[in-house]
Amino acid sequence: MSGSSQSDGSSVSAHPAAHPAAPEPVREVDCAIVGGGPGGLSAAVCLARMRRSVLVIDDRDGRSLWGQTNRNYLGFPDGIPAAEIRLAGRRQAAGYGTKFLSGRVAAAARDGEAFRLRVEPRVAVSGSETAGRSVNVIRDEDLGRSLGEETAVGRTEIVARTVILATGVRDDFPKFPGWAECVGRSLFWCIACDGYEAIDCVAAVIGHDEEAVETALDLLDFTAEVSIVAGRPEGFDVPDSRLADLANNGIRAYPQAVAEYANVNGQIEALALDDPARTRLPVQKVFVYRRPTPRNEIALELGVALNEFGHIVVDSGQHTNVQGLYAAGDVTSPHDHQVSAAVHEGNQAAAAANYHLYRPVQRAPGKEER
Ligand SMILES: Cc1cc2nc3c(=O)[nH]c(=O)nc-3n(C[C@H](O)[C@H](O)[C@H](O)COP(=O)(O)OP(=O)(O)OC[C@H]3O[C@@H](n4cnc5c(N)ncnc54)[C@H](O)[C@@H]3O)c2cc1C
Repeated sequence: MSGSSQSDGSSVSAHPAAHPAAPEPVREVDCAIVGGGPGGLSAAVCLARMRRSVLVIDDRDGRSLWGQTNRNYLGFPDGIPAAEIRLAGRRQAAGYGTKFLSGRVAAAARDGEAFRLRVEPRVAVSGSETAGRSVNVIRDEDLGRSLGEETAVGRTEIVARTVILATGVRDDFPKFPGWAECVGRSLFWCIACDGYEAIDCVAAVIGHDEEAVETALDLLDFTAEVSIVAGRPEGFDVPDSRLADLANNGIRAYPQAVAEYANVNGQIEALALDDPARTRLPVQKVFVYRRPTPRNEIALELGVALNEFGHIVVDSGQHTNVQGLYAAGDVTSPHDHQVSAAVHEGNQAAAAANYHLYRPVQRAPGKEER
């Protein structure tokens, strides 16, 4: 581990020790990247190319493992499944010496000027909760194995001179039989991502607040067939004037909850409303507007500043308020949550971490870190 040459710390292993009771040796790296989605992998490629020892720790529970195809990411005229971006990014990062550890960072603390991370075994993905991404998870694991990824078992500790948090968010999609297969195929949250695919389709928005109303009105740029369903027994939580805006623009508004999302092989075909008549709305594309939950547990433990929605506050160089700690991707606050933004932020975070790792002589006299 030095400021100018790479040391990958591979003399120690995260595999089971010969005697299970013995604690794992501690591995030291220049940078531990928590999260192996587009944000974390972008950071890994950049830092590994700066000849830093880089360890990506990932528990395969991210947005980039759902079934969606990204069609707005530059360079892929036919679109590219998000899960493929991960595979390609992993191969690219490995080519420059990045190491991988499968597991969940469960705890973190300052260790002098460095950080100490405790990694626990990943919680196994299970049946219906993840049916829509189990194939992608398996492919991600297979590639990991072929690239020498280690698996956290028991107690694994990492000491890192810098840390990049690229932990993403968890979406709050409605849970119904078959829901996971629908995510990214007929169940979406973002018009910038998937509005185009709704052109001339029968679309419905599920949501009760202003953001849902805006989403419904924005969908009119793609299709004239738009409904909005409150999705809860309490109905809508917007002024009557906004309900009038919906009606005046040809959007049918239903204050009911949804009793059933009728779906086959990932395609939602109809919504049955929770009313005595079980009103049935045929649909092709469903957009749910519910604020996602940032995965900020590690950030909280390390005293990182968060905004009102729990996203990590960063500056344009992806510095957090904690020296040596950076953040990238959906877990941060400044940009729309897109693959392009995650990749950009990962790149920036890597540059900032690399600067932190420079020896004093490599910095211009008086030049601050940020
Ligand atoms: C249905 C859908 C469609 C989308 N369509 C598009 C689109 O068309 N275009 C577009 O640009 N974007 C799209 N997005 C958004 C895009 O997927 C995200 O912006 C992108 O994945 C963010 O990358 P990330 O690396 O920040 O987070 P993620 O991809 O979520 O990766 C975060 C990783 O961190 C891991 N992690 C979190 N916490 C821990 C921990 N404590 N320990 C270990 N690992 C941890 C997770 O398991 C995960 O693998 C879509 C998203 C969804 C859900």
